[in-house]
Amino acid sequence: MSTAWAGGADAIAERMEKMTELFVAETRKAIYHGESATHCEECGEPIPEARRKAIACKYCLPCQSQLEKHT
Ligand SMILES: [Zn+2]
Repeated sequence: MSTAWAGGADAIAERMEKMTELFVAETRKAIYHGESATHCEECGEPIPEARRKAIACKYCLPCQSQLEKHT
């Protein structure tokens, strides 16, 4: 007659969710090498925030496509 089980499972799920968030944040930080690239490393143009949030990037879109063509 205990509901502790359900509560416990919820708590575990919540903790796992937080750990996943933390992991994603740490991974992003690692990709950025600690610094957030607000400006393109190639031409110095500001990178749109939407692009930075969508993908971990250091270059603006034109420079990124240029670099990808060369590789
Ligand atoms: Zn650029």
